[in-house]
Amino acid sequence: MSFNYAPAPESRGNLSIKPRYGHFIGGKFVAGSKHFPTINPATEEVLSQIALAGKADVDAAVQAARKAYTSTWSKMSGKERGKYLFRIARLLQERSREFAVLETLDNGKPIRESRDVDVPLAAAHFFYHAGWADKLEFAGLGTSTKPYGVAGQIIPWNFPLLMLAWKIAPALAAGNTVVLKPAESTSLTALLFGELCQQAQLPAGVVNIITGDGSTGAHIVNHPGIDKIAFTGSTEVGKIIARAVAPTSKSVTLELGGKAANIIFEDAAIDEAIEGIVNGIFFNQGHVCCAGSRLILQENIADEVLFKLKDRMAKIRVGDPMDKNTDLGAINSKEQLLKIGELTASGDAQGAQRWSAPCELPTKGFWFAPTIFTGVTDSHRIAREEIFGPVLSVLTFRTPQEAIDKANNTPFGLSAGVWSQKGSRILWASQGLRAGVIWANTFNKFDPTSPFGGYKESGWGREGGRHGLSAYLKGIGHG
Ligand code: NAP
Ligand code: MG
Repeated sequence: MSFNYAPAPESRGNLSIKPRYGHFIGGKFVAGSKHFPTINPATEEVLSQIALAGKADVDAAVQAARKAYTSTWSKMSGKERGKYLFRIARLLQERSREFAVLETLDNGKPIRESRDVDVPLAAAHFFYHAGWADKLEFAGLGTSTKPYGVAGQIIPWNFPLLMLAWKIAPALAAGNTVVLKPAESTSLTALLFGELCQQAQLPAGVVNIITGDGSTGAHIVNHPGIDKIAFTGSTEVGKIIARAVAPTSKSVTLELGGKAANIIFEDAAIDEAIEGIVNGIFFNQGHVCCAGSRLILQENIADEVLFKLKDRMAKIRVGDPMDKNTDLGAINSKEQLLKIGELTASGDAQGAQRWSAPCELPTKGFWFAPTIFTGVTDSHRIAREEIFGPVLSVLTFRTPQEAIDKANNTPFGLSAGVWSQKGSRILWASQGLRAGVIWANTFNKFDPTSPFGGYKESGWGREGGRHGLSAYLKGIGHG
């Protein structure tokens, strides 16, 4: 007998998406000249037309941010700045359903995740940093810290609102004003955030949101009126930005890609580890920079783990992101789907064995079934390059040192996971792993108080916690 879930779709009611948007500059929405469509990747429905900012728009946004910095924000006490941040945090909570639905429509991620992870964590980032605004001298960063001035911030499409919060909350708490560009395929929640800034009566120009493509991002990076660049995205673009700011006095933080190892030792609680593996790679369709995309299994438990993992993967519910029962939503764009297709084809060609969960994929939109590759070696492209999709590469090891060596054999170093019942083994492994975040007997846990960032090609600097705050304070930040 089989029990099927009845559809449980979230409502689109009370959500108003305008047919076209401008830029949010100096506290107002100003019309753009050129536009491009943003779509729902689960249905390919065009949701709205987004403005493409050119050099003049970027310039207007930087000028608005400079004016707000000089005339208002830098003169305001930390206590007053904190009040605005608390207000933004509370408004995000009040309007959480609206933000969650909009995020799911524009990004393709399951409503369960945007509702329970993205939006609450975005609010938590504002609450956390609101608390710091009037206590900066007690953050252990010196007693006379100073903001940079105007921060240019560029974010990716995988956690649109959450990455905005990671960028804007610490910048404002530290006393900077910002010009932020969301990713091309996911601008809608950033634009709704602009409306929320109006509702919070945030002084005009403290937050400016300009939409566009990579060329818009490049205008921000190269604008002489910007004091600090904060970027989250691919290592490739991160390198372009590092080169562009090297000859300038701009400070820079980069949060880039990853290829995290999730190591399962023979003494781990297997059933819990299975949940951790699934959460590690299939959360947010695997569009996660810190995803546990390399499963490193002790050889003597590999058969048992793979048997149970496949059984669990067959139960992942793939489909309509607006359905509250959905676990795995749509791939964010056609380009990303093609990239996943190309990399997985290289896995086949290089001799790894592919297994995909049996599931029916919708006919419209961009979809990829949860997939694992076994028989993967360190030299395979699927073990080295970031797939950024629901695809897990499985490697095995015999001795604990071999696990650490394999885990570290990567140009990245953003995160890692260790599963073992022994505290001593977890501590030993954590000391050997070259990764910014290491989870023990869990995975993909985020908290605004905890610094997040990478080693090697995963980036420069940290976000979250006191470390993240320091990136927005002169003389203390990185770069
Ligand atoms: P991406 O292509 O690097 O894009 C990131 C942002 O940069 C987008 O807003 C993009 O605009 C913009 N951009 C593109 N070219 C630019 C240029 N030449 N100068 C300035 N800005 C430019 O990355 P993505 O494909 O959107 O995101 C996926 C990547 O982000 C993955 O590699 C992932 O690991 C990484 N990521 C890292 C973290 C972290 O915290 N470490 C978090 C999330 C994601 P368009 O959208 O218009 O192209
Ligand atoms: Mg979209």
